[in-house]
Amino acid sequence: MNMDFASDFTMTINGRAAWATETLAVVNPATEAVIAHVPDIASVQLDEAVTAARQAFGDWKDVGIAKRQALLRALGDRLADHADEFALLLTREQGKPLADAAMEIGTGIYWLQEMAGQALEPDILSDAPERRVELRHVPIGVVAAIAPWNFPVGLAIWKIAPSLLAGNVMLLKPSPFTPLTSLKLGELAREILPPGVLNVVSGSDRLGPWITEHPGIDKIAFTGSTATGKAVMRSAAGNLKRVTLELGGNDPAIVLPDADVEAVIPRLFWAAFANAGQICIASKRIYVHESLYDRFATAMVDYAKSVKIGDGTEQGVQIGPIQNRPQFDRVRALLADARSAGTRFLLGGDVPEGQGYFIPIAIADNPDEKSRVVAEEAFGPVLPLLKFSNVDEVVARANDSPYGLAASVWGTNLDAAQAVADRIEAGTVWINTVQDLGPGQPFGGHKQSGLGVENGREGLLEYCNPQVIVRCAAPT
Ligand code: NAD
Repeated sequence: MNMDFASDFTMTINGRAAWATETLAVVNPATEAVIAHVPDIASVQLDEAVTAARQAFGDWKDVGIAKRQALLRALGDRLADHADEFALLLTREQGKPLADAAMEIGTGIYWLQEMAGQALEPDILSDAPERRVELRHVPIGVVAAIAPWNFPVGLAIWKIAPSLLAGNVMLLKPSPFTPLTSLKLGELAREILPPGVLNVVSGSDRLGPWITEHPGIDKIAFTGSTATGKAVMRSAAGNLKRVTLELGGNDPAIVLPDADVEAVIPRLFWAAFANAGQICIASKRIYVHESLYDRFATAMVDYAKSVKIGDGTEQGVQIGPIQNRPQFDRVRALLADARSAGTRFLLGGDVPEGQGYFIPIAIADNPDEKSRVVAEEAFGPVLPLLKFSNVDEVVARANDSPYGLAASVWGTNLDAAQAVADRIEAGTVWINTVQDLGPGQPFGGHKQSGLGVENGREGLLEYCNPQVIVRCAAPT
């Protein structure tokens, strides 16, 4: 297939290219230049996509899991054939450095292949000859995936792979800030999947609510902010859509007194600042024991000064810009607020004028626990370092948040670290590691970080309705 990665961006509806009368501009965040125009879908076209999906559903769910596994693997292979073009396009639309973009595409391919290996065997709950009870996992129907702009390809694949494997049909809606790679993924899928099985639609801010209200859609798989997640859940109630919500986080990292500071610094630096801090599971509050605090803070600042920020297509760049103008303005306002509240920055804290949505690395020195820079999810390269003196206190502070996505604990005594980890309220708690995910590992948030999980068998089951078949001998 000869794909044009520079200019020709079309939606995929019923296995065919679809244009729209209106378009949206897509901006490269490193240069602020418009790099493409994409269709801004009309509501009648959304109806067509939903109808196409519904029509494809019967054959797709009946085709058998082995065939669906093979087609998902084929989609992964096809993505691998175009991995370099996808990575470059991802950097241009999202801003992340090319190496990170290549990693996102590579991980997406791996995820497709691994998830395609999952099975959906029924559970036999009772197997007596006179009464056999079987729990089946049947597909839900038309699933809409709504993705954010920080990992457009990775988070779309997290939804596409299990949803299609389970026998559902789909619509994928990327963020209007990063639609390009998703539209290209739709093009690849046209060649591999039956028409209607995976529709990819792009549109402005009105499209999300159209989808969540649509009576023809049965489930929403959503990744985005907690505020939008709540709106999705409210809107999905209309026809009692199933929802999986992966939302925001304010992950604490706890550095215990016996941690090896030099070894931990690079891990926690990248946990906080990779993707310019725009990761749901970025370490967003680092609590360091008072006995280590000064050494840790100095080493973190030194490490930060060695990191190159710039246009992700430039050789050697390790951190790119903020992905879009509204987010850039939000992070700038947060920093300005911190400055006016008297927060001391060990590094950064100001945003120079210039081309591109670049924010220098900002490290705040033990700010007030209630300040916005600690209590809110910055979703940018802004990190508060916080001092603690005992375990009870740090556990209470770590848990004092409406979020509960993930957390990490660092220390050489594993039992002591485990004892702290056991008390943390979060969907994933890492000990001496961070952002350590896998296709077989359920991932989801506690509290207001989400509802349900992605990945693993539990994630796959979120794309199924349980159906119990009770089979008895004929009455005599
Ligand atoms: P967002 O909530 O603004 O947008 C996410 C998606 O929802 C986009 O496609 C957007 O167009 C769409 N949308 C917006 N309003 C909608 C509405 N009313 N109804 C339906 N859809 C709507 O989030 P974002 O700014 O793109 O992403 C950043 C947020 O995502 C952060 O809070 C981050 O923590 C979170 N996130 C969570 C995870 C996770 O797995 N928990 C992963 C990545 C990002």
